[in-house]
Amino acid sequence: MNNIYIIDDEKAMSELLQLYLEEMDMDAKTYTSGLDFFNENQTIDKNSLIILDLKMPEMDGVEVIRLLAQKELTASLILVSGYDTGVLHSAEQLAQAHHLNVIGSLVKPIELSQLKQLLATIIPINDIISKSSSSSISHKNYQPDIAALKYALDQKQLILFFQPQINIETGKVIGAEALVRWQHERYGLINPDKFIPLAERHGLMEQLTQQVINMAIVQISQLINLHFTIPISVNVSAENISSLSLPEFISRLLQENKLDPTMLVLEITETALMCELVTSLDILTRLRMKGFDLSIDDFGTGYSSLSHLHRIPFTELKIDQSFVKKMDTDDNSRAIVKTCIMLGHELNMSVIAEGVESKEVMNILSELGCDNAQGYYISRPMPSEQLLQWLKNYEQPII
Ligand code: C2E
Ligand code: CA
Ligand code: CA
Repeated sequence: MNNIYIIDDEKAMSELLQLYLEEMDMDAKTYTSGLDFFNENQTIDKNSLIILDLKMPEMDGVEVIRLLAQKELTASLILVSGYDTGVLHSAEQLAQAHHLNVIGSLVKPIELSQLKQLLATIIPINDIISKSSSSSISHKNYQPDIAALKYALDQKQLILFFQPQINIETGKVIGAEALVRWQHERYGLINPDKFIPLAERHGLMEQLTQQVINMAIVQISQLINLHFTIPISVNVSAENISSLSLPEFISRLLQENKLDPTMLVLEITETALMCELVTSLDILTRLRMKGFDLSIDDFGTGYSSLSHLHRIPFTELKIDQSFVKKMDTDDNSRAIVKTCIMLGHELNMSVIAEGVESKEVMNILSELGCDNAQGYYISRPMPSEQLLQWLKNYEQPII
């Protein structure tokens, strides 16, 4: 994160935010109006963050969003408001439609924990927790380029973290999601958000996904040897489901390793699906015929129509974390989660909620009949050895 700007007409609020940021060793520039901000900043670095109040006299937050888009100032955005969540949500949609990267929103009164959580989605957690040492400063600012990523792939510097998934009713572990990390020689662990889009833009996803699947298979075999027979889910990108040979590649790999196809689940986001519908239909149908489970990821954020959902033989519906996280405080999110659960069940899919961060959310999910859960409340993603340890220690149902 290169620069942080706070635009809020309430001075007390800016000061509070500034204080919170200082506590995390970050500083921000504050502006009491959008006009001041634009006067002072003709250009901004694309790795900047703008914390924007929606309700301001003169130029309101929505106008600021529109101007940012017009001036092609791409930055990450956090929206702040005292309005109800409906207003925040539509402002978020608007910013996204303008291709601004909205990380999330904060409802006044703002709490430090809320802000920390949002920042954790763009900045590696260690950077926030640890006080800034010289290495974490360079880490924060490091933006990999394509040559570095190619080198990382060739040198096999990517590793997997695993996040357990449990059945809500029984508390049993039913699987784990593999999440890729780049173990950089100099900058330490780099999160996928920093390099997956780069790989996607430069046609490197086939190579990347093959490495991920290879590593996942090693993990599955290792778990089975230790008598933990749980499937691993891997994420596949739009580019992967346009490669017609994918089903054969994966199928062969599992056969070579004497593994049942049900041990590997493929997660596809709604958005990826819509890219090339006919080809992805072909590939997904064949994957399903070969016995793989298919999960529709980030459900609720894309634009897939119900007929597509019905046509593709998904076995799992994964409700996007943006709704799950706040379903205990926001009625709209709760209604969406409830509807997703009903829809998934009607279509004979198992339903998993992602981003479960509290006992409250877990309890509501249980009441609503959601099958499975994944999130920080159960465990953060962790490296392979830690997963093994976690599985050994995990006994008690969590709710
Ligand atoms: P995703 O597939 O939606 O993965 C879930 C993300 O949410 C992970 O972030 C995970 O660490 C985070 N998360 C899990 N539980 C919680 C929670 O309770 N609260 C919060 N705030 N966050 C939670 P991560 O590991 O940084 O991955 C980000 C995204 O990168 C993934 O989102 C996925 O789209 C992509 N990605 C990760 N690994 C791969 C991969 O191997 N291939 C592809 N194509 N994409 C990947
Ligand atoms: Ca996923
Ligand atoms: Ca997701």
